[in-house]
Amino acid sequence: MQDIFEEIADVVLDPFAYGRKLKADTGKKIVGYVCTYAPEEIILAAGAHPLRLFGTTGTIERADAHLQSYCCSLVRGVLEEGLKGGTDFLDGMIFPHTCDSIQRLSDLWRMNVTQGFHLDAVLPVKLDTQSARQYMIDVLHRFKTDLERELDCSSTDNNLSKAIRLMNENRRLLRRIYELRSNQPGLMTGDALYTLVKATMIMDRERVREVLKKVVEKMEAEKASQGTDLKSVPITKPLLMAGGICNQPQIHDMIEAAGGAVIWDDFCTGSRYFETLISTDKDPITAIAERFLQRAVCPAKHAGLRNRAEGIIRMARERKARGVIFLYLKFCDPHAFDYPYLKAALDQEGIPSLLLEVEDPLPAEGQLQTRFEAFLEML
Ligand code: SF4
Ligand code: SF4
Repeated sequence: MQDIFEEIADVVLDPFAYGRKLKADTGKKIVGYVCTYAPEEIILAAGAHPLRLFGTTGTIERADAHLQSYCCSLVRGVLEEGLKGGTDFLDGMIFPHTCDSIQRLSDLWRMNVTQGFHLDAVLPVKLDTQSARQYMIDVLHRFKTDLERELDCSSTDNNLSKAIRLMNENRRLLRRIYELRSNQPGLMTGDALYTLVKATMIMDRERVREVLKKVVEKMEAEKASQGTDLKSVPITKPLLMAGGICNQPQIHDMIEAAGGAVIWDDFCTGSRYFETLISTDKDPITAIAERFLQRAVCPAKHAGLRNRAEGIIRMARERKARGVIFLYLKFCDPHAFDYPYLKAALDQEGIPSLLLEVEDPLPAEGQLQTRFEAFLEML
């Protein structure tokens, strides 16, 4: 396992180096994206590689000429990399219609980053209306046509079905890893888990399948050797985390040092990425559209007033979480707007919660550590 975790740590540390190498080794076209509403299966079916961007680890300078400093660091970081040429290996960027910041990033990218093609997929915002289903299907058909024109290729239903099966398998394996760990958090640290999930959005998806299979095998073997006696792993307070993305897996070291363990989440770099499989017994584009309508919704979309609160409460109950940590990127309006009603719903159920707004890079470790310790002591 050591070699696998070294491999994924390298990928997450420098995803652009990984993308460049993959392109040089395989000749595949690389398509960047920034949000889990990107239809990865359509990109894979076109013979290209979808690579998710997570901002920058460098300082943000050029992007400040285009975006206010009160935009989230993810969007500012992605634009910074585009403007300074960090993403020059990309053959194109795609932007699904989601939060306002990503929509503005799309405009800025189109106007200022000249390399590669630029595509929008204007998905519906309201997902629970009569017309949303057909609209979603039509947009995805249009996206497929646009993408194939840009990549100068065409894909068949067979290609799509193969991509769906691959992504479904990766989702199933990720879910299995979450389940194993939620019963025995000691099987894998939170840092390792969230680094692994991020890597699955960057790496070649066939390699992802191999890596996930090995991780599951290893975890199952360890579980069998330890039995189901939870006393064999450190006693921790199980927690749920909710938010947009977990871009700083090292945050889990602080939570674990304070005596907690995140055993499930409602994140785009977590369960929202792998929950809900795509049906394999209907027209592939229709099936992809239906997954987008059925999967756990993010706050940039709408599927009923209480949908998210009910989902988070259900998750907390099912996983026996003692509390919920909301982890938001600073200036993320969609999540901030949802927070008051989510907190009120959790209060009503007697589930304690903590709100943390962070930026890339994280503030001094001590500040966060103290907040985690105070919250966990209260549980
Ligand atoms: S929170 Fe919503 S808009 Fe933001 S990355 Fe996730 S799916 Fe996309
Ligand atoms: S959902 Fe929030 S964190 Fe994600 S891109 Fe939009 S504003 Fe930024």
